[in-house]
Amino acid sequence: MVASPPMADAQQEAETYGTYIAGEWRPATSGETMENRNPANRDEVVGRFASSSAEDVDAAVSAAEEAYRTWRFSSPMSRANILHKAANILEARIPEVGRELTREEGKTLKEGIGETTRAVQILRYYAGEAQQPSGEHYPSVNPHTLLYTSREPLGVVAVVTPWNFPIAIPAWKIAPALAFGNTVVFKPASLTPLTAVRLVEALAEAGLPAGVLNLVTGSAGNVGDPLVRDPRVVAITFTGSNETGAELRRTAAERGAKLQLELGGKNPAIVLADADLEHALGHVVSGSMMSTGQKCTATSRAIVDRRIIDRFTEMLADRIKALKVGDPLDAETQIGPLIDERAADRVAGEVDRAKQAGAELLIGGQRLGNGLERGAFVAPALFGGVDPDSRLGQEELFGPVLGVIPVDSMEEAMTVANQVKFGLSASIFTRDLGRALAFAREIEAGVVHVNSETPGAEPQVPFGGMKGSSSYSREQGKAARDFFTQVKTVYIDPPPPSA
Ligand code: NAP
Repeated sequence: MVASPPMADAQQEAETYGTYIAGEWRPATSGETMENRNPANRDEVVGRFASSSAEDVDAAVSAAEEAYRTWRFSSPMSRANILHKAANILEARIPEVGRELTREEGKTLKEGIGETTRAVQILRYYAGEAQQPSGEHYPSVNPHTLLYTSREPLGVVAVVTPWNFPIAIPAWKIAPALAFGNTVVFKPASLTPLTAVRLVEALAEAGLPAGVLNLVTGSAGNVGDPLVRDPRVVAITFTGSNETGAELRRTAAERGAKLQLELGGKNPAIVLADADLEHALGHVVSGSMMSTGQKCTATSRAIVDRRIIDRFTEMLADRIKALKVGDPLDAETQIGPLIDERAADRVAGEVDRAKQAGAELLIGGQRLGNGLERGAFVAPALFGGVDPDSRLGQEELFGPVLGVIPVDSMEEAMTVANQVKFGLSASIFTRDLGRALAFAREIEAGVVHVNSETPGAEPQVPFGGMKGSSSYSREQGKAARDFFTQVKTVYIDPPPPSA
């Protein structure tokens, strides 16, 4: 592993950013701000952001409620035009926004730019979706009755997002919410508010009427909690941890709000003895280590046929050891820091805990020095001979940690793969079509890959998990319409003939 220390544009003057409520950028009512630092170099302040409170949330929800009265009846074509314009504005800014995303989140510049490009594609996709048919015409028992359904918006929607995809996830929630006529109060993760500001700027500049989209930055307790409890917020779309998801389930159930949860994963990659090992290697390493292992769809378990396990594990160790960890703005870097110090210490602690529990650490797992002390860096870790029932085999660690689990057969591989509480994404590497098809049928995961890595979500298809990874709803593609709209059934009979 080669280290490249973060470059020192650290002393730049940090700007202060407000919330966006009722079409205005404004400071938090309290006047307080929170600081956001670069995880690759904690001396660098990326920006200062409004540290909002319940009062700001109240103002944002009021603005969204007011705007909903007209936005819900606006033409879908005009909504599509705004989303198209926002896509164009953001597209012109991809290099800067991608770079800022990297400075605040820590994924590599290539990934930051890739994610921003994805957000542009998502905005365009939902501009198109806004113009798709939205309802059905049915036959009626009465031949004169016009019987149809229409899909109508829900009202004010809370969008609560995590830090690991700070522009793609907000885009794939906000774009369909707006396209289908809802208004939004957006609470981004406290660790990535700058990217949220950039997305909202693009949408605001594209001509969204005041109040249709509101951004409130601040902590989970001061902003997230009052937002999801506000009775005027009829729906909550959330991506984040299972712990927060469990809280939101209770809150939403208590007050009858519509809820969409996308949560954690413990995603398996099965490597069968007939797989092309070089090909599988590339995908397992990329799937487990890119974005520093901080994707909900990251591969965290390689379930490998015992006949090839020694060779494949050696290949994994060599490839992972060679990954270049360092400043994510450096074009050569493959692995950036974790999101913050707390996460880096937590992951290094989990590695120690797994070692103490008897897992065989083959490489990595330690906090890194050598010029990387100012950042949240952890050496990518590989464990061999992992017990599928251990904590390492069961819990999402959300970092660059891969565990190899030996199995004797395809049947055992399937049992191990399914024996977790999560069910987000899964992949298999094999040349056997029959086994690939059996895998696709039997695996308990919402996203299934054959001969490709577990991460990867194209915007035109549904995305979401099974079991503990989701709330049985799906995001993206046409599935978004199901969450962000409700069905109205209309019977229209002609009036009786006049006398
Ligand atoms: P998190 O701690 O649950 O936070 C997610 C968001 O919820 C943040 O904006 C957070 O605010 C807010 N929040 C926390 N507690 C809240 C509460 N009680 N009420 C309202 N809002 C609250 O998750 P994270 O650490 O940011 O994200 C990592 C997790 O997300 C991982 O488990 C990962 O697997 C999962 N994830 C899932 C998917 C998927 O599609 N399935 C995609 C990406 C990530 P603060 O930032 O202010 O704390």
